[in-house]
Amino acid sequence: MKPFTITFLGTGSAVPTPSRNPSSQLVKIDDFHILIDCAEGTLMQLNRFNLSPMKLNYILISHLHGDHYHGLIGLITAMHLNGRTNPLRVAGPPGLYEIIQLQLKHADTTLRFPLIFITLTEDFPQVIIDETGFSTECFAMKHRIPAWGFLIREKIVHYKIRKESIEQYGLTHSEIHSVQKGEDVITKDGEIILNKLLTFPQPAARSYAYCSDTAFYPELASAIRSVNVLYHEATFSAIHAREAKATFHSTTWQAAEVACLAGAKRLVIGHFSSRYQNIEQLRLEAVSKFMDTVSAWDGLVLSIE
Ligand SMILES: [Zn+2]
Repeated sequence: MKPFTITFLGTGSAVPTPSRNPSSQLVKIDDFHILIDCAEGTLMQLNRFNLSPMKLNYILISHLHGDHYHGLIGLITAMHLNGRTNPLRVAGPPGLYEIIQLQLKHADTTLRFPLIFITLTEDFPQVIIDETGFSTECFAMKHRIPAWGFLIREKIVHYKIRKESIEQYGLTHSEIHSVQKGEDVITKDGEIILNKLLTFPQPAARSYAYCSDTAFYPELASAIRSVNVLYHEATFSAIHAREAKATFHSTTWQAAEVACLAGAKRLVIGHFSSRYQNIEQLRLEAVSKFMDTVSAWDGLVLSIE
């Protein structure tokens, strides 16, 4: 099984504190590196955890509040200065490309690498990455300004064939190749041999969902049904539900509720307000409604098995 990991680079909200940077995460899947959100200081966090920005293939920006993208121009400029030539794909809300272009224009900087921009729209479902080994869809969240969530889903591309079935059915080279891609075999007599009779059972495709920032929005559940790991913001304690509602953020209980509704296997909470010193207390609030809850910290690496 190939690694599918998330490194949490920033797990606080609004402004950096000595213990937490604002939002950013690095997802590694199928040899691809995807950065989700890019708060100020993200480049420093990548350096701090020995991760190279030069390896990034994609950057996804959820919305245009500064604590989710103010590090982007610095990161792009650093890659330029370090001689990057590989294309970089950035997906983000309308307006973001204009902001980047304006910053580059006034710095009289022409990037050494192609920056390919994907504009997120409000037509759903929307596939924004479609690679051989995985895909990424975005979906709507409920925030003060338009905000998108992301679902990264592994694709099972290589089916392991049973040796004995090659002999039993006298499979040719090209038939073996089709079976390994998941296809059925049609014999000369027109009989269909189902792929599942020829191959070992496949592990279920793994998935990861990112939901930050959002108010309590139960409709999210349908977009992320049965996700393996759900990262959902929990900016506020359950006792501060009024503040959460007023600022279009979620509480611990609301994050847990979405995890229950979605049938998620595991919940990670983050985007904590700096007013809370006792994060374990926030985690326990979520645990009271959804057992398998982890509270994220800067530097946490989580592997999806
Ligand atoms: Zn926001």
